[in-house]
Amino acid sequence: MDLEQVEILFDREQVMTRVKELGQEITNDYQGKNLLVVGILKGAFIFMADLVREIDLPLEIDFMDVSSYGVSTVSSGEVRIVKDLDYSIRKKDVLIIEDIVDTGLTLHYIKEILKKRGPRSIKICCLLDKPSRRKAEIIPEYVGFSIPDNFIVGYGLDYAEQYRNYPAVCILKPSVYEK
Ligand code: 5GP
Repeated sequence: MDLEQVEILFDREQVMTRVKELGQEITNDYQGKNLLVVGILKGAFIFMADLVREIDLPLEIDFMDVSSYGVSTVSSGEVRIVKDLDYSIRKKDVLIIEDIVDTGLTLHYIKEILKKRGPRSIKICCLLDKPSRRKAEIIPEYVGFSIPDNFIVGYGLDYAEQYRNYPAVCILKPSVYEK
């Protein structure tokens, strides 16, 4: 990790402690259900890989990739499905795994799309939540850490596709992107 570019917010150990707690909570809540864990690419891939190994239940895994419709329509929250789920979610208890909820517009849109497909339930689990930035009414059922409005990289999150491999959750120093 280049500590001239990033500042550690939560180190690997703090993250794993919290991921274990979330896994236990989810294990308790989903007893006897039909759990399908849906990861939103790419940011959630590391969080999801750690989290599912802390869930002691039978479960299925699928992935979805979405992108915003270009800069001018970002605020509308309209997203394009770049990769849809491979399987039907009918009668499944869907748990969406997201890296970070910011305005909430992306997840609001994804939830609306998935609701129409007849799941038994849909809940959201995010590693990070920036509630101060919310524009859509999205309240994740499971939150790793609630954080102030900083730009985060590491543990799966990127800036221009870099830093995803950093093991800690880091704040990207403004000097990097204000150059
Ligand atoms: P929302 O629709 O909630 O505003 O946007 C959520 C998405 O924006 C996240 O899945 C993530 O891709 C991106 N995002 C929001 N805040 C951050 C951040 O601090 N760091 C990074 N790397 N991505 C972010």
